[in-house]
Amino acid sequence: TEKTMEQIVNLCKGRGFIFAGSEIYGGLANTWDYGPLGVELKNNVKKAWWKKFVQENRYNVGLDAAILMNPQTWVASGHVGGFSDPLMDCKECKERFRADKVIEDWCAEHSFDLGHSVDAMSQAEMKAFIDEHQIACPTCGKFNWTDIRQFNLMFKTFQGVTEDAKNTVYLRPETAQGIFVNFQNVQRTTRRKLPFGVCQVGKSFRNEITPGNFTFRTREFEQMELEFFCTPGTELEWFAYWKDFCHKWLLSLGMKDENLRLRDHDPEELSHYSNATTDFEFVFPFGWGELWGVASRTDFDLKAHQTTSGKDQTYFDQEKNEHYIPYVIEPSLGADRVTLAFLVDAYDEEVVGQDKNGKDDVRTVLRLHPALAPFKCAVLPLSKKLAGPAQELQEQLSKSFMVDYDDAGSIGKRYRRQDEIGTPFCITVDFQTVGSDTEEADHCVTIRERDSMEQVRIPISEVQAYIAQRVAF
Ligand code: ATP
Repeated sequence: TEKTMEQIVNLCKGRGFIFAGSEIYGGLANTWDYGPLGVELKNNVKKAWWKKFVQENRYNVGLDAAILMNPQTWVASGHVGGFSDPLMDCKECKERFRADKVIEDWCAEHSFDLGHSVDAMSQAEMKAFIDEHQIACPTCGKFNWTDIRQFNLMFKTFQGVTEDAKNTVYLRPETAQGIFVNFQNVQRTTRRKLPFGVCQVGKSFRNEITPGNFTFRTREFEQMELEFFCTPGTELEWFAYWKDFCHKWLLSLGMKDENLRLRDHDPEELSHYSNATTDFEFVFPFGWGELWGVASRTDFDLKAHQTTSGKDQTYFDQEKNEHYIPYVIEPSLGADRVTLAFLVDAYDEEVVGQDKNGKDDVRTVLRLHPALAPFKCAVLPLSKKLAGPAQELQEQLSKSFMVDYDDAGSIGKRYRRQDEIGTPFCITVDFQTVGSDTEEADHCVTIRERDSMEQVRIPISEVQAYIAQRVAF
């Protein structure tokens, strides 16, 4: 069966993954708050990224730079001059759109092959295309557009008490620049030789014209970025290396390859500084959307910072005995987007039998990789009388993992609640576990696995290791 965004949104809202932001005040358009389960899931995604990109990686180190940066940063990076979207308004219904998205959606709907990406079109070409095909407003259906104008996506604010131009600062629109401006600091203090990379996870802000599709496109979001510095001439090899590394990372967390595609940019779509770019796209219920942009950026960024700051950004290559500006490979991933992709990918509704009226009994199950699941296990006492030993077990396991506890309702209902939030293991404590007047304690519990629904009975003393082994990543 097809999944819809509505199913995902309802589950997120109903079970405490993601809530509408500031809801009691009527919300703030397209802001979202991660609830008790969502914060665990997103943290697990970020931890899995850090583990493979930093902790276990021989080349990379971490960084956590400030969100507010000297505004010259954004002059050098090109964001002050060029980080804008082509905007147009419908004169009839006053709705505002991104011209590139209107063209993209129209092409998809009419199976029209542009022959290249919309990103390769100039503003004048977009205008001409819209006029030629009489592309109407998606909201009201009328064809009466304003001219296209460029709208800068950076959020502006003021630092200090006076709100004048010289106090203007920007909320960073990407985390990457915090890495570039620290290239020399990191290289000097770690005494790394090329190639090496710097990783960062953090919030970015873009005043998007058309946010939407739940957490796919928001104005405040988190990125996980790597800037990998290498010797000029080796960049295409490293580009291939990181593309493959990123692909494997997604697959190793259980993402289905058939829901992914790697789209190489055509020469005319490439940014002027890039000699290779590939977008990883995932098929969401609303269509294919970019998850991860992997770009070979040459020496564009460090060179720009050298020119603008006047500070030397070269690297001294001892073997070659020469100074040069390294080339850069940048894999840039949205934490919220990839979290949403994992949720969509994992969501399943499965018929597990018939009820007494012969109707299909459907269970909702989030088949999340155990490393991503908010709870690694849930302790379920068969009776409230078993609270003592059950809570003791929960307390003990909580030292290693996030553990849920549920003693309300039938055991079947409790299993279903855990299936729905992706808990890979349910641990049932019963009277046999602790024994009774007539029966000796076996000091064992039953562990039920989420996907297969199979059960095993193992000694309490082995539970921690059993789960640790299965949630490892
Ligand atoms: P798009 O074309 O979707 O606007 P982009 O090409 O501008 O994306 P990049 O600048 O390459 O995106 O950003 C790198 C990654 O950051 C994207 O692949 C995406 O995962 C994430 N990202 C970018 N913008 C947003 C946003 N508004 N909301 C959530 N995630 C975002």
